[in-house]
Amino acid sequence: MSEQKIALVTGGNGGIGSAICQELADSGMTVIAAYYTPEKETAEAWQAEMKQAGYEFHLVAGDVADYESAGQMIKQAEAEVGPIDVLVNCAGITRDKMLKRMTEEQWSAVIRTNLDSVFNTTQQVINGMLERGYGRVINISSVNGQKGQFGQANYSAAKAGLHGFTMAIAQETALKGVTVNTVSPGYIATDMTKAIAPEILDSITQTIPMRRMGEPEEIAQAVAWLADEKTAYVTGANIPVNGGLFMAA
Ligand code: NDP
Repeated sequence: MSEQKIALVTGGNGGIGSAICQELADSGMTVIAAYYTPEKETAEAWQAEMKQAGYEFHLVAGDVADYESAGQMIKQAEAEVGPIDVLVNCAGITRDKMLKRMTEEQWSAVIRTNLDSVFNTTQQVINGMLERGYGRVINISSVNGQKGQFGQANYSAAKAGLHGFTMAIAQETALKGVTVNTVSPGYIATDMTKAIAPEILDSITQTIPMRRMGEPEEIAQAVAWLADEKTAYVTGANIPVNGGLFMAA
């Protein structure tokens, strides 16, 4: 790598986010982990735990579902650390319910946190990337944005929309050294999937050709590859990391 790049990972202290922070640091980047504002103590405990493991991560707080808050967070990150070269949009939530029982609050919380968030962060770093002639934006979607999932109309819609955003922005930035890609994980062992009833998770696992869930590190590998300076000719792609659960031509 020609110079030390700076990466900001939203949901950086989450299950997949933590693995992404570690993988990017292992590849030589300076890493800023963005956490959700009310979780200060948890985030600081996570930072201390990472330090024990040999990782020095900067922390910034913000609510990615809120444009102003996301902007403050990005300004703080750039003031304290430097211009963001790599943005990984990893923050996300689920509020699963069948459509007939889904409340407006459950619908909009997921759309705001999983889809509006990507506008809120990317829109506020993209000009800097274009001016500097370099950038990597990586959006974490989901296999359920590709195939839909019973009980996840809100999540499937947000995650499908995310890749539409990726493809549009990839075209807007392609001439300026900026790539924009999506990684779509299958079922990964984190707190998010711990919320699924074990018998349901077991029945889902039986449908995965590899008959196992993925590890956060397996997502982080794909993100680090896309984040690499040398991965310069891949843009607008949707990389599936799902054990074969969904395949598309
Ligand atoms: P986690 O719940 O472990 O991590 C989610 C992270 O997002 C947490 O750090 C959480 O912070 C943060 N977050 C939530 N809401 C906000 C907000 N409003 N502002 C800022 N940060 C917020 O889940 P995973 O690591 O499993 O998920 C990471 C990403 O991967 C998500 O986008 C998810 O949809 C996606 N994904 C996960 C899959 C899986 O099987 N686990 C499969 C496919 C995709 P806090 O904990 O403080 O609330």
